[in-house]
Amino acid sequence: MKVLLAQPRGFCAGVVRAISTVETALRKAEGPVYVRHEIVHNRHVVDTLESKGARFVEELSDMPDGAVAIFSAHGVPRSVEVEAGRRALTVHDATCPLVTKVHNECRRYVEMGRALVLVGHAGHPEVVGTTGQVAAPVHLVESEDDVRRLPMADDTPIAFVTQTTLSVDDTKSIVGALKLRFPDTIGPDTRDICYATQNRQSAVRDLCKVADVVIVVGARNSSNSNRLHEICSGLGVRSYLVASSNDLRAEWFNADNTIGLTAGASAPEQLVQGVVDWLGCRWPVEVTSMEGRRESIEFRLPPELQDL
Ligand code: SF4
Repeated sequence: MKVLLAQPRGFCAGVVRAISTVETALRKAEGPVYVRHEIVHNRHVVDTLESKGARFVEELSDMPDGAVAIFSAHGVPRSVEVEAGRRALTVHDATCPLVTKVHNECRRYVEMGRALVLVGHAGHPEVVGTTGQVAAPVHLVESEDDVRRLPMADDTPIAFVTQTTLSVDDTKSIVGALKLRFPDTIGPDTRDICYATQNRQSAVRDLCKVADVVIVVGARNSSNSNRLHEICSGLGVRSYLVASSNDLRAEWFNADNTIGLTAGASAPEQLVQGVVDWLGCRWPVEVTSMEGRRESIEFRLPPELQDL
């Protein structure tokens, strides 16, 4: 059995920064450290940080006044920042800088007086955060049909932004529909989709050219992991999204298969290795890594934690 590892795969710079923010805050704080929402969408990461002392909660109301609070990599609405100030929380903001960039774009477009459209998935924490960062209506679209249903007149000046973890291809077609219906539309095209999402999607496409089956390691609620899984299905390659090797089934594989293996941006390499080990326990495997793009992007910690 051949096992081919996608390159790049797994952790991105925003996830590394978010995890490091929690670990550094734990070292600095004298009392408990609360994290609002899963710091990144991966249970293994959350459990590991919990074992080091982090307390995960869904809302600020689940923390005492004056507590140390960390915002997750997905970003938060402005109302959460205001509430944190009112409650005298010490905040370490682990929002990915590439999400913050989208927040800034939103503000700029609203100042220009344009109607703002957000291409993204309803209910995803990044979308909730981005929508709540501007004091103007944000029209969420998930499909070309949604574009047709937008309530604005066709000559309305429009600006759009996108969630950072979308499918590049889906976004292109939605943006195309937007520009077709609203000729005065400006926006970043697919440039809001972050480098990590784009690189992992491109690597999984390469994997699909040679693999019989693709395993995507990632959480069910991880947007970028789901997109990797969808790309494989779209290319007609059988694929499975698994949280860890515990989800694997022997009947998915044959001894002469080439297995493609990748991981979403919030999935630790340890879980990828767990899949390799699981296969290696059942079949003789030859493991190789694809040639692919090397990533060198790093993000600095929030300023108040940098000295630590
Ligand atoms: Fe940032 Fe992209 Fe990673 Fe999300 S997937 S945390 S936007 S680098």
